[in-house]
Amino acid sequence: MLNLDKNSIKLGATAKDKSDAIQQVGRLLVDTGHMKPEYINSMMAREQVANTYLGNGIAIPHGLPIDRKFIVETGISVLQLPAGVEWNPGERVHLVVGIAAKSDEHIEILSNLTHVLGDEAAVQQLARTTDPLDIITTLTNPTARVNDDMPVEPDFAKAIDVTISGKAGLHARPATTLVNLAKEFQSEVRIRYGNQTANAKSLVSLLKLGVEGGQTIRLMAQGVDADRALQTLKAAIEAGLEEEEDAPAAVTLGRALSFETKPIVGIAASPGVAIGPVYQLRRGKLVFEATAPDPATEERRLRQAIESAKAQLQNLYEEVKAKAGAGKAAIFEAHQEFLNDPDLQQAAIDQIHQALHHAQAHSSAPWAWQQAYEQRASALEKLPDPLLAGRATDLRDVGRRVLRLLATRVEDEPQLPNNPVILIAEDLTPSDTAGLNPALTLGFCTAYGGPTSHSAIIARSLDIPAIVGAGPAVLNVPDGTDCILDGESGNLYPHPSEADLATAKTAQADLQAVRQAEKLACYQPAILTDGHRVEVVANIGAAAEAEQAVNAGAEGVGLLRTEFLFLNRSEPPTEAEQLVAYIHMTRSLNGLPLIIRTLDIGGDKAVPYLNLPAEENPFLGVRGIRLCLQRQDLFRTQLRAIFQAAQTGPVKIMFPMIATLEELIAARQIAEEVRADVGTDRVDYGMMIEVPSAVLMADEFAKEVDFFSIGTNDLTQYVLAMDRGHPVLAKQADGLHPAVLRLIDQTVQAAKAHGKWVGVCGGVAGEPLGATILTGLGVTELSVSIPSIAAVKAKLRSIAFSEANALAQRALRCRTAQDVRALR
Ligand code: PEP
Ligand code: MG
Repeated sequence: MLNLDKNSIKLGATAKDKSDAIQQVGRLLVDTGHMKPEYINSMMAREQVANTYLGNGIAIPHGLPIDRKFIVETGISVLQLPAGVEWNPGERVHLVVGIAAKSDEHIEILSNLTHVLGDEAAVQQLARTTDPLDIITTLTNPTARVNDDMPVEPDFAKAIDVTISGKAGLHARPATTLVNLAKEFQSEVRIRYGNQTANAKSLVSLLKLGVEGGQTIRLMAQGVDADRALQTLKAAIEAGLEEEEDAPAAVTLGRALSFETKPIVGIAASPGVAIGPVYQLRRGKLVFEATAPDPATEERRLRQAIESAKAQLQNLYEEVKAKAGAGKAAIFEAHQEFLNDPDLQQAAIDQIHQALHHAQAHSSAPWAWQQAYEQRASALEKLPDPLLAGRATDLRDVGRRVLRLLATRVEDEPQLPNNPVILIAEDLTPSDTAGLNPALTLGFCTAYGGPTSHSAIIARSLDIPAIVGAGPAVLNVPDGTDCILDGESGNLYPHPSEADLATAKTAQADLQAVRQAEKLACYQPAILTDGHRVEVVANIGAAAEAEQAVNAGAEGVGLLRTEFLFLNRSEPPTEAEQLVAYIHMTRSLNGLPLIIRTLDIGGDKAVPYLNLPAEENPFLGVRGIRLCLQRQDLFRTQLRAIFQAAQTGPVKIMFPMIATLEELIAARQIAEEVRADVGTDRVDYGMMIEVPSAVLMADEFAKEVDFFSIGTNDLTQYVLAMDRGHPVLAKQADGLHPAVLRLIDQTVQAAKAHGKWVGVCGGVAGEPLGATILTGLGVTELSVSIPSIAAVKAKLRSIAFSEANALAQRALRCRTAQDVRALR
């Protein structure tokens, strides 16, 4: 639980405007040593992409996850503004609660805050009080947390339990991500936590739950897209809810540019400076007959077009996911949902079958379809909730995608010039934006749309400077007009002066230099200050991630979780399918090592089509290698694919969950039989060290393998006897517990005695403190999640091996995990 003291509260303040208020509340956090001044800029930047107004006169500004490095220690501060300040048009704020959150220590305060939120009198009192203790008591006193006022809603029939991963509970940032994702679905989505329920589409409602990291919640959904909603939300929660924003943020100059040319003013949507001619992007006209003679043919055509559109959307989803992450791609999953809406389809089909009064003719498929989606889009557009109204654009985007497939021809189809241009359009749909060729798109500017629109979000992840909402005037700028687009201020400068062009070019060069420096740092090897080298590689779970890993600075893949190939399908992947996936990765890695872990299912990773019997203790049951030894059909097929892929790059094989020597020997023997059969060269064999018996017998195992990779996630759960997914215990199952560290030490010693190397691929390897201690213990390869690569490398480059070793020795002597975490 976080302390809140008087120094973090400023009463009776006044603020000129919202940014002044954020400066002041941020300053309090800087002055109390919780964060560096740079985080204030990050808080400002956050306002561009999210609304931090909570309701009833309270706002909770906080920074972007990418800037967490500027947080020294989690803290909150409160600025009381008796006269208030306008946060957004029509929203006045009297209490500004600044948050600098490293993890979720402040979650109880947030939860308390949301409970005051519904109590107008309490908020008024806090907005006027002259005693800081009033604020402190309300926000920190656990008795202020009245959960009884929460309506207990009944559960829906469709539900899944999911554990909030990592350290981050459902505080503002992840909760916002969750709410935004939930809003992509039509279904009602609720979350149960203990005996409380919340509407997953309401930030306040979610924050009220006060869910901490490591806790399990029940996701429930009801509606047409309930299944998809549950799967998407579950995946997002498991991915940490912040995965997207942890991707490298767009590089900014951090200073405003000043130009003398008169601008067209819009809203900044994606930073960067573009210089070049503009091109007005207009949509082509889809031409089709309104009537057709045979309704059965039309119905078939419509159904086919819908199926093809779905396939296109799935491809687009995969493409955007690979480029920009699952969260940003989720919009295309939502688009597919529109097409799954039986009412929409039925409306069009009914229309097709209605005979037109004067003739034998019927409505054509395109005409009926256009009527059906347009009717719905216009209804959506009229809704008062801007988010729902915004769905009209999405519906039209999807509608047009199908219509295009049904049209006879497209008239006036815009021919994009093949020289780079700044695109101007009324609005860009997510499909338009995802289809932009970054090489030919210097930037874009739309007349309508807001900074949180999907096209703005996608532009940011593609690193294309962009402005939105510049008004209809922008549509009158003739094609070919030279312009400067400043994505940071949101201004477009047609016909810039020579001086402005020079300024813009210098800014571009500066940005390029910043980008280059950042890139270089992530590609620099992790060589410690005294020359000791550690290999930093990536944990991946999808074919496309191999390339992302390399781009993020990984020196290879230390753990490929092959389970991804087996999940979300109705039968196991064939040898050919697996081979394609593995070769995709060896190609992306282009000579860098790839450690393929053989199938590790069972435990918490269920694969329904394998019809595995339910087990009382699945983590102690037939999982990992045990399953493969039982189901040799699966094992041998996978090994065949791996050996063939090993012809295309440096592949190593690793067996999971080895507990006994017999298991390892059996697995290796089968692998060798398969290899002889395939007729390929030998590969290195390694094993995961995840079971305490493997550590105790490491001496023996080291004689049989080429390397060890320690899976601290499982090792911790087995040595502490705490289920890694347990709602209460998982938090204590800390991979930096001295018991785990002593096992790692023992493993390294055993491996060294036999000249073998040791890596770690569990979660602690990706924490800077964990990486340091593991390095100090003699681990020479750290396999970490993609977003952690640059930070782990940077940390290791900043220390000497002797320091890491001294820290590791101290850690080994610690008595508790907490003591280890307190080491500096
Ligand atoms: C581990 O157990 O630490 C590990 C890396 O494997 P997984 O998380 O896939 O079980
Ligand atoms: Mg494991």
